Amino acid sequence: MPDALRRLADRLDQAFATTDLAGRLRLLRDAFDGRVVFTTSFGLEDQALTHAIRSLGLEADFATLDTGRLFPETYDVWARTEEKYGFRVKAFHPDADALQALVADQGINGFYYGLDMRKACCGARKVEPLGRALAEAQGWIVGLRGDQSDHRANLRFVEFDAARGLIKASPLLDFSRDDVAAYCALHDVPINALHERGFLSIGCAPCTRAVKPGEPERAGRWWWESEDKKECGLHVGADGRLARAKMVG
Ligand code: SF4
Repeated sequence: MPDALRRLADRLDQAFATTDLAGRLRLLRDAFDGRVVFTTSFGLEDQALTHAIRSLGLEADFATLDTGRLFPETYDVWARTEEKYGFRVKAFHPDADALQALVADQGINGFYYGLDMRKACCGARKVEPLGRALAEAQGWIVGLRGDQSDHRANLRFVEFDAARGLIKASPLLDFSRDDVAAYCALHDVPINALHERGFLSIGCAPCTRAVKPGEPERAGRWWWESEDKKECGLHVGADGRLARAKMVG
């Protein structure tokens, strides 16, 4: 099975390179007879994908990780998105017992005081819920772009995620931020109000700050950590190792 999925990923990856966003999403949907999940954190790229998937009428499960630490503006764009497109995004919350144990152990903001504590928080609030969101999925759509970081520049449109046993697709991989912003403006897509205030990449409120002009797009994520430590476990490489890059969502 993994070999068949690897071959399918190779075929889709090549096909993605010669078609547009709508074609990519249709190819991906047609490749599976089972569950395809789109995980959104309501950032600019995810909003563009939401519009594309909904306007094409493609069957996909929309999932988000409600960590409990999101910005009010993120909940606002979540609500506006559901209203505009007439559907519900399924929220996956941290396991209550795991969260209670985490906060009892490290305090409510323990993630500032050590990499292990930060990873434990991401593990409880994001990684474990993501596993539930992707249960039984055959395909996983994400909003990664290649120019967001050095690591992402080396990603493929479509890859076999060995750790999760599914095909992971990044239909916006070759889009620039300006491309995505123009697409959202053209289609009047709701966007997070924080983008206009310098928050180019938006995650949990205590772990995200606005970036200054000229700073890398994702410099505002876990800004107190060194660059090579910025991982949260959501994106695992084809070899099953954690992606050494900033996370999405
Ligand atoms: S981004 Fe910050 S608050 Fe959110 S899960 Fe990770 S450590 Fe916890």
